[in-house]
Amino acid sequence: MFARTGMPKLLDYAACSQDVTVNDRDFAAIAVEEGRKSQAEGDGKPLVGVVIAKDGEEVGRSHRGRTGPGEHAEYGLIKELRARGVDLTGAVVYTTLEPCSTRNHPKVPCAEHLAAAGVAEVVIGMYDPNPRIYRDGWRILRDHEIRLRDFPAQLREHVAADNKAFADQFLRRTQDVDTGVVFDWDAHPGGFVIATSGGEFRVRFTRAGADRLHLYGDMGKIGSPRHARDFHEVDDPAAQDTWEGHSRTITEGRIGMLAGPSGHLLLKVVEVNDMDRGADQNCVKFDYEYRPSIGS
Ligand SMILES: [Zn+2]
Repeated sequence: MFARTGMPKLLDYAACSQDVTVNDRDFAAIAVEEGRKSQAEGDGKPLVGVVIAKDGEEVGRSHRGRTGPGEHAEYGLIKELRARGVDLTGAVVYTTLEPCSTRNHPKVPCAEHLAAAGVAEVVIGMYDPNPRIYRDGWRILRDHEIRLRDFPAQLREHVAADNKAFADQFLRRTQDVDTGVVFDWDAHPGGFVIATSGGEFRVRFTRAGADRLHLYGDMGKIGSPRHARDFHEVDDPAAQDTWEGHSRTITEGRIGMLAGPSGHLLLKVVEVNDMDRGADQNCVKFDYEYRPSIGS
């Protein structure tokens, strides 16, 4: 009943389970199938499917957007089951995506809804690639003493493939100019890719101090126009000093610069969030602007 053209039949995997019960793997597979029905809302939205089981029996399944436009799968299903008088105390929740940890006020995040419903266990298909949520939903559930497990590896691969475009937006940009990009430099030491009209820049960061990061570029030269606070204060990037193979330390509010073969990438570190300073995540918020070389 779940077979769709081009989609593998996930329930076939139920027979080869070793580390989990057959029911367990079935529920996780159903959640993946369910997630594929998520309503399209333009780009950048994940496929999320959820199954809730109690005493080894399914009590409900849902996907993002089924219970209302943009409504999260877990919240929608909890609300629906609650209306039917289903007691979720001790239930096991299979969700393809880590439950959200933050929503715009006054919405309550799914992790809090799950904890309030009294569920005993949450099984996760993929951690949220959004740096604002990554492992924070997990943390909230852990702090409520809810048992946490991961989907079997084979199913995790399907979830990751289904959500590749969603995950990529937190690792890559393809415009020449963008603002407010949030990147988890700690979870992705390989860097953030900016594919400009003049070539691809890989931007890597490591921690340098309370309000600063080391910026590395793999393309060649790197620099930082001293005292400049905004892109418009940099006239011709080629007039600024750049150095071969060095990293530069960029403080919050300052600009770093990577030189490519046909232009420069200017990058402003807007905000550094550091867990050692009490932030929930290690992430950087930055703006960037690609400047093609000015002809001589
Ligand atoms: Zn949610």
